[in-house]
Amino acid sequence: MDKKVFELIAAEKQRQSEGLELIPSENYVSREVLEAMGSELTNKYSEGYPNFEGLDGDDDEVLATTTAGHRYYGGQDNTNQIERLAIARARRLFHADHANVQPHSGAQANNAVYNAWLEPGDTVLGMNLGHGGHLTHGSPVTQSAKIYNFIAYGTNTETGDIDYDELERLAREHQPKIILVGYSAFMKVPDFERVAKVGKEIPGCLLMADMAHVAGLIAGGVHPNPLDYGFHVMTTTTHKTLRGPRGGLILSKGIVGNPLRRPEHTLENIPTLIDRSVFPGTQGGPLEHVIAAKAVSFYEALQPEFHDYAAKIVENAKALAAALKERGFKLIGDGTENHLILVNVVDSYGIDGKKFERALDKIGLTLNANSIPNDTRKPFEPSGVRLGTPAITTRGLGVDEMVQIAEWMKKAAEVCAGERDESELATMREEVRELALRFPLPSEK
Ligand SMILES: *Cc1c(COP(=O)(O)O)cnc(C)c1O
Repeated sequence: MDKKVFELIAAEKQRQSEGLELIPSENYVSREVLEAMGSELTNKYSEGYPNFEGLDGDDDEVLATTTAGHRYYGGQDNTNQIERLAIARARRLFHADHANVQPHSGAQANNAVYNAWLEPGDTVLGMNLGHGGHLTHGSPVTQSAKIYNFIAYGTNTETGDIDYDELERLAREHQPKIILVGYSAFMKVPDFERVAKVGKEIPGCLLMADMAHVAGLIAGGVHPNPLDYGFHVMTTTTHKTLRGPRGGLILSKGIVGNPLRRPEHTLENIPTLIDRSVFPGTQGGPLEHVIAAKAVSFYEALQPEFHDYAAKIVENAKALAAALKERGFKLIGDGTENHLILVNVVDSYGIDGKKFERALDKIGLTLNANSIPNDTRKPFEPSGVRLGTPAITTRGLGVDEMVQIAEWMKKAAEVCAGERDESELATMREEVRELALRFPLPSEK
C-alpha cells in the first residue's frame, strides 16, 4: 500500500474537519457523491454520447428507453444509462433543453462553448476580471484570449453592481458574438432580462451565462435562472454551490440533434454544436465516474431539502455580512445578495488581504485574498479577501456561528494590525477547532 499518499489524504480530511471552509467556491460533498467518484467506472472509456431520446420523463422512464448511443467503444450499457440519468436530471434542475455533462471543469465548459460558436478573432463581451470576472473570460494568460477578442464591461464602484449602461453601449458598439454574464467575485443578482434584451438586438449574438458560483442557488430556487430570461447557454462547475464532484456542465436551449452529424451554424442548433465542441472538439474520453457523481449530486439538488439549503446559504451570508460590518469591516457593495462577500481589508484595518488570509489560516478559517474593483495593489497582495457560506452551511452552521466567525475575524485583523498579541491566534485556533468538531463533514456522518 502507498502509505505516503493515504496518510496525506487522512491529514487533509482532518484539516477539513477541524477547520472552517470560507472559500466561496468550495463545498463538502455527500458520502454518496464520494463513493460514485471512487468507483470502477473510472476504468471505462466511453468517447461519444448516449442516445438522447426519452429524456423527458422521470428517472424510471429515462431508464426504460433503449441504451444504444453514439459511442466509439463497446461495453456501454451502464455508462449510457448513468450519463442519461445525469443529463435528464440536469435538464430538469435548470429548465434546459439539453445538457452536456462531460466537461472536466468549468474552464473546459467555457472553452467548449467559445469553440462551438466563435471563429478566431470574434468578439466576446464579458466582465472586467478586476471587477469579478473569471480568468476564462479573457485573461491574457489564457489560450482563449489568444484566439478571440475579449472586450470588458465593469461594475460601478459605488454600488458594486454591473454598469448596465456601459454594457449596453459596448454591446452596440462592438456587436459581440457572445455576451457573457457570470462572475467569481460579485455579490449582486444580475439583471438577465436587461442583458438579454440588448443581446437580442445583435445579429448572431449568443447569450452565455457562466453560473459556476451560483448554480446551487439557481437549483435551489433562490436565484433567477438565466435560461428563463432568454439566455441560450449556461455553463457551470458542479463543485461549488451545486455541491457535486469537481467538474463542469453546459446547459442549453434549442434543438437537440445527432452529435455525429454537423448541424448548420445557428443559435437553434447550439446544443449539438456544443456536443461536438466538447467531444471531439476540446476533450477526449469523458470521466464516467465523475458523471455518475454529478448524477448523484443532481438527484440531491432535486430534493426539496436542497431549497432549504440554498436559502440558508444566503441567510448565513447576509448575517455574516452584517456581523462583519458591525465590526468595522468595509464590504464591496455594502453587503451581499448571494453566498459571497468581498471585504476591503486595507480600508477596514490597514492590512493587506494576503496578510489577513495567512493569519486566518493559522486559526483554521480558510478564505482567499482577492482584488477589489480598481485595486491599486498587486494581485498577489491585494486589498481584499473573498469569503462565502456554501461549505459552512452544508456543515450545519447557522446565524449564531456567523457572528462568532465575524468576531474571530475582527480579533485576527487586530492581531495583524498590531493591536493585539500574536499569542491570541493560538487561543482562537482551539476555539475554531472546538466549534468545527461539533459540525462533522457530511461524508463522516
Ligand atoms: C470557478 C469558476 C470557473 C472555473 O471552474 P474550474 O472548474 O476551476 O475550471 C469558471 N467560471 C467562473 C465564473 C468560476 O467562478
